[in-house]
Amino acid sequence: MATIKAIEGRSVHQIQSGQVIVDVCSVAKELVENALDAGATSIEVRFKNNGLDSIEVQDNGSGIAPEDYETIALKHHTSKLSTYEDLAGLHTFGFRGEALSSLCALSKFHIVTARASDGPKGTRLEFEVSGKLKGTSVVAARQGTSVVVESLFYNLPVRRKELEKTIKREYNKVLALLHAYACISTGVKFSVSNQIPKGKKTVAFATNSNPNTKENIANVYGTKTILALIPLDLMFEMDPSHRPGSAQSPRNWSTQEDAGAREIRIVGHMSRPVVGEGRQTPDRQMFFVNSRPCTLPQVAKAFNEVYKSYNITQSPFIFADIKIDTNAYDVNVSPDKRTILLHDQSALLESLKDALSKLFEGHDQSVPQARL
Ligand code: ADP
Ligand code: MG
Repeated sequence: MATIKAIEGRSVHQIQSGQVIVDVCSVAKELVENALDAGATSIEVRFKNNGLDSIEVQDNGSGIAPEDYETIALKHHTSKLSTYEDLAGLHTFGFRGEALSSLCALSKFHIVTARASDGPKGTRLEFEVSGKLKGTSVVAARQGTSVVVESLFYNLPVRRKELEKTIKREYNKVLALLHAYACISTGVKFSVSNQIPKGKKTVAFATNSNPNTKENIANVYGTKTILALIPLDLMFEMDPSHRPGSAQSPRNWSTQEDAGAREIRIVGHMSRPVVGEGRQTPDRQMFFVNSRPCTLPQVAKAFNEVYKSYNITQSPFIFADIKIDTNAYDVNVSPDKRTILLHDQSALLESLKDALSKLFEGHDQSVPQARL
């Protein structure tokens, strides 16, 4: 008798969804990215019980058109990408069409949405676990979309238990992630709150629709933090001698090499390289690639290493956005899109360390005069 059988469709959906939505952070990340992709200028994130009971993201973006209700939560249905070739030129956060479909499989999920033309009325959308539209009803709503994720992992008992155990840590992690989105998103008002059962609702942080990242940082971390920062604006060409040979390279570099050395610009803010101006722990370090928040452990290590030679006892505050050609990295590495593969990482790291050393050497070590 044959032992190899196809996995039942519903189970495949659950297994795959569990790779996109791995924790409270991935829920918040996917929903906030959808709100930004929808052109929102105001985003409210509401947690109940640190996210254990519910996570809601409400935006004032475009809203969803009625003709999209049926397909919106179906797997691999997206308004943002239709062929693999489109990926390089993509300017939206989302492109896989997997987040909403995964949330249907792993939580009690609904959406309320209204477009500008819908007046004060909106539509509440309910879905099956498969992502199929189950029903709609008319409700009062403002323009935009509100996505509500209740009881995350209610149907995966082991994960749910784990989530319950780690929720406090998870909540701090999700706040750090939302800080990054709020700081990088100029012109967008963020508000994040948490309602503890039988406790009062607390606002975790809020930003105004500031025109620049410095004011966003001041809103999130306080004006005092800003005063201890220097502007980062590093521009360098990657040193081709550090570039791996094409044999080990994940991509064929010929087109890039024809175009000459690759230009990189890193803009942002960081602590002055002076003892007393850093932080006890490296907990305020945010990295972005073309404004997309991401984890870049090697880049973080390079920053910290250079900083340590000026201030060995503390870690710097870092807000660094790497502006780089969209062909020079790949976001499509992991289902949750948190990992970014920089194709020329070792060359970038060497050039970055040189540029940082130069910045710090030339830095005036007197008391900062920075004002907002
Ligand atoms: P992706 O973002 O990869 O396209 P998602 O599953 O996150 O996939 O979303 C599916 C589709 O639902 C999006 O392409 C978009 O058209 C629509 N959508 C999701 N969230 C919102 C929102 N907040 N406002 C408007 N449209 C949305
Ligand atoms: Mg998305």
